[in-house]
Amino acid sequence: MKGILVIADGLGGRPTDVDGRTCLEAAETPVLDELARLGALGLVDPIGPGVRPGSDTAHLSLLGYDPYAVYTGRGVFECLGIGMVVREGDVCFRANFASVEARGSELVVTDRRAGRIESGQHELAEALNAIDLESVPGVSFEFRASTQHRGALLLRGDGLSRHVTENDPHATGKPASRFAAEVDHDDEAARRTAAVLNEFVERAYETLRDHPVNLRRIEDGKPSANFVLARGAADCPHIESIESLYGVRGAVIAGGALYRGVALACGMVPIDVAGATGGLDTDLRAKAAATLVALESFDYVFTHIKGTDNAGHDQDAAAKTTFIERIDREFFGPLIEGLDASVTHLAFTGDHTTPIDFGDHTHEPVPVLFFGPNVARDETAAFGEREAGRGGLGRWSGRVLPMLLGYNNWSPKFGS
Ligand code: ZN
Ligand code: ZN
Repeated sequence: MKGILVIADGLGGRPTDVDGRTCLEAAETPVLDELARLGALGLVDPIGPGVRPGSDTAHLSLLGYDPYAVYTGRGVFECLGIGMVVREGDVCFRANFASVEARGSELVVTDRRAGRIESGQHELAEALNAIDLESVPGVSFEFRASTQHRGALLLRGDGLSRHVTENDPHATGKPASRFAAEVDHDDEAARRTAAVLNEFVERAYETLRDHPVNLRRIEDGKPSANFVLARGAADCPHIESIESLYGVRGAVIAGGALYRGVALACGMVPIDVAGATGGLDTDLRAKAAATLVALESFDYVFTHIKGTDNAGHDQDAAAKTTFIERIDREFFGPLIEGLDASVTHLAFTGDHTTPIDFGDHTHEPVPVLFFGPNVARDETAAFGEREAGRGGLGRWSGRVLPMLLGYNNWSPKFGS
């Protein structure tokens, strides 16, 4: 048997058009509608009823973990997702290049994303990694750039803590904040970590401000990538791998570092796909083809599609609807054509609702579809929020991957 889990980020929606339909309901999705007819639908509360999920915690929950027990913060998944090695005791951050202007003793943030810098980030990262930190002996760091302004920062050394505040003011025109121990965790380790971080970002500014990449940017009239903002502090989570829990091996296909990082933390093997951008311009056909290829050497594959969430955050109903139609045509079309339906179970869902009116994640349950030889058909005939509410699977919380693996008879028995 084989398993495929597909999560379209922020897939769920609220009534948006004049007929009271969500983007998913308004989208023409003949392939998904046929799968709904042949399989069964339900509604899943990604974490629990009434809980507004982040993408990281929602994914942990859908993959079968209790996010309240295992989640330590986002930074570690960002580090893992861009290929950094994380060890026990390390503290990880989601980081990005930003633009600041010195005004008196303060560094005022003028662009939180350094003009979404497109080139030179890796040279800047190299310069950062040459910095020698002096304030706290025995602590080393690694900064790695990923796409555009994004990157990750890892601190390594004895006696570090994830309980520190961030330096991102989350607005332009405001000074970058200083790192400090969290009020509830004001101990030696947290103060030590904050001191390292404050020294790092000060030295980063000195290093980046006159870097040739930035001098060129200034000449070209672009914002200088002269500062680093870090947030999402996290230490190494204790997550038992899917393989040790179920005895099966999985692969992950995801353009976004966060999703790849979460799956890696759960023991999946990452597969690179050219053209998988983590955006609305992603190559969905390439992802479908890669999913089918990965299925030859793995028991199950988790494929993540991000664009639905981007359109939701952009509050662009037409973009979300069009992208869902593309998922149907360019991803599920070739995927269903290429798989052996007699030995494969498929699950499709979202990690939360990202409605157009709100432009951020909300608490509503998300439709979920199961298809495969062991799935009892229900009466549904289209894939959408209201149809899923009538589905034979009912409504539950998280654990979509364990259910998929269960259809393949891979679940360990609880009790005797
Ligand atoms: Zn998400
Ligand atoms: Zn989102």
